[in-house]
Parts: sequence; C-alpha cells; structure tokens
Amino acid sequence: MLAIQAERAGGPEVLSVVDRPEPEPGPGQILIRHEAIGLNFIDTYQRSGLYPIPFPSILGLEGAGLVEAVGEGVTRFRPGDRAGYASGPLGAYSEAHVVPASRAVRLPDGLDSRTAAAVMLKGMTAEFLVRRCFPVASGDAVLIHAAAGGVGLILAQWARSIGARVIGTAGSEAKAEMALAHGCETVILYDREDVAARVKALTDGAGVRVVYDGVGAATFEGSLASLGRRGMMVSYGNASGPAPAVEPLRLSRGGSLFLTRPTLFDYVATTEDLDDSAAALFGVIGSGAVKVSIGAEYPLAQTRAAHEAIEARGTTGSTLLIP
Ligand code: NDP
Repeated sequence: MLAIQAERAGGPEVLSVVDRPEPEPGPGQILIRHEAIGLNFIDTYQRSGLYPIPFPSILGLEGAGLVEAVGEGVTRFRPGDRAGYASGPLGAYSEAHVVPASRAVRLPDGLDSRTAAAVMLKGMTAEFLVRRCFPVASGDAVLIHAAAGGVGLILAQWARSIGARVIGTAGSEAKAEMALAHGCETVILYDREDVAARVKALTDGAGVRVVYDGVGAATFEGSLASLGRRGMMVSYGNASGPAPAVEPLRLSRGGSLFLTRPTLFDYVATTEDLDDSAAALFGVIGSGAVKVSIGAEYPLAQTRAAHEAIEARGTTGSTLLIP
C-alpha cells in the first residue's frame, strides 16, 4: 500500500512516497481502510523535529474510513463500521492503518469520512479548549488567533454558539472575511495592527477573559497584553515557532494571569474522555452550530505540497489527504 514517510527530520523535502505491506490488526486493534486523512500542523512539527519522533516514520495522526478487520477481543467495532481517530498512533499517511480500538470512535450515519477526517483532531481540540481548558460562558470576550485556520474556524464557531464575543486574528483580508463568516465578531489583521491595543479598544479597556493562541512566538506577548484581570492564556500551538519562556512575575504584572500549555492527547487520554469529546463535537456539527470547511484536498502522494502550503500560511480551514 502507498504511504508517506519522513526519512529524517527536516523540511517537506524529507517526505517520500513508499510502498508498505498491508497491516493486520493484532489483539485489541482494528484495521481502517482510509477514505480520508487529516492534515494537521502538528504533522509538520513531527516532520521538522520540533516534536521528536523516531525516523524514518510514516507521519499522520488522523484518519477516517471503513473498518475492514478487527483483532482478537475487539467488541467496540465490527467489520463494515465506519470509524475515525485523531490521536494516532503515527502512521495515518497511508491507505490503511491499524489503530487500537480504544483510540477510535464510530462515525455517526450523517457524518461522511471526509468531514470526519477534516474535523476530528481540530474539532476535539476546539472542544477541550472551549469547554474544559477554559469553560467559555455566554458574554465572555475571547481572542482566537489564526481564526481562519483549521482549529480556528471551528473554535470561533463553537465559542460563538455558547454566546461569546469572539475577536479573531488573521493573516490576510480574505482570511478575515472567512473568519467573520464563521463566528468572529471582529477580525484583527495581526501582521499590520497592534493586537492588544485593538482588543482593549473593542472591550472598553477590560481585555478578554481568555486568549487561544496556536501561533506561538509571534503572538505570545500581544496575547498576554490582551488579557483582562485574572484572564487565561491558553498557549496551544507553535505555528510561528515555540512561545518564549515566561517569568511568573510577568503574569502578576499582567493582572494575576493564568497560563496553560495543553495538548489534546491529555484531554482525550481515556476512552471515556475520547468518546465524550467526540460526542460533543458530533453534536455541534449535527445541530449546525459548527460548519466544517474543507479548504483543500490533495492526493496522498502529493502530501509534500500540502505541507508546503500549510507552512506558508496558504491554507484555510481543514486540509485533507485522499488515498
Ligand atoms: P492552521 O490551519 O491553523 O494553520 C496554521 C495557521 O497559523 C496558518 O494558516 C496561519 O494563519 C497562522 N500562522 C501565523 N504565523 C504563522 C507562521 N509563521 N507559519 C505558519 N502559520 C502561521 O493549523 P491547525 O488548525 O492544524 O493548527 C492550528 C494550531 O493549533 C497549530 O499551532 C497546532 O499545532 C495547534 N494545535 C494544537 C493542539 C493541541 O493539542 N495543543 C491540537 C491541534 C492543533 P494566518 O495566515 O491567518 O496567520
């Protein structure tokens, strides 16, 4: 079967198309024949070496498709079910993948595999960010960076559906339009404008209750400066590079701020948490509160181009790899 392997740490050029034997499910595992694979920014961190993985490795953490076979002892799935997963194991960039049954969820009838692969990792991330990491309440002012991105579009709609006032940031006017159509009340063009000054003006000087910052190095200081008293800084990604070190006194000066650096994997570590997160996500998609936007699809063999596009800020919403 066709798969995409990172030969060593480096740029998109380390990705190559390889031929691998068809995997077989062991005890507790299922074999999923992919109909779609999710591209995530984290895949680029694993490829570049920012998040260490062994090399060579087949990349990818998210996929959806048909359960073709189940291993011994599996009761959660049967052959013929449709399933999706979003927390690995590594190896989703392939035509088929073996996954522990406990790390996959059954897809509802109304949710096709393309939509599932577009939304599971990013949407469960939005779920834990908005409901558990900092439970957003109606009326809260929130700041969401890269609001036209994969996580951003979902997060902004979800926060809006709770009744939050959502201020987004984006890298271009076209992206700002998109974010405005997906939950944002205002979008700041953060490459050109002073984010904290705009946020303070938009909130009558109060600042926001929470900042969701997946951009990292480029936005970190402006994010802290945008928070109101006792606000929460959620640093959940490094699209522009890792956020800098922080002295606790900086948080004190900012108004007794909180800082957390969460990952999805800790919020869906148990099968119960995984099922609850996926159910909440499928709920907001089913109700229409969150619409899934697939900005681009690439044949799996062209994954390198997809990596180049996401790192060059050339994508919006979710990007799929199609086997
Ligand atoms: P996105 O689709 O959001 O792509 C990243 C976006 O970041 C770009 O489109 C771009 O938007 C913005 N950006 C700003 N500066 C840069 C830069 N220098 N280089 C590249 N992009 C930049 O990706 P995802 O939705 O997959 O992920 C969003 C963030 O969330 C990532 O940091 C990811 O690691 C993180 N994440 C964290 C998780 C966790 O568990 N902690 C889980 C899932 C995602 P613009 O042009 O508008 O600036």
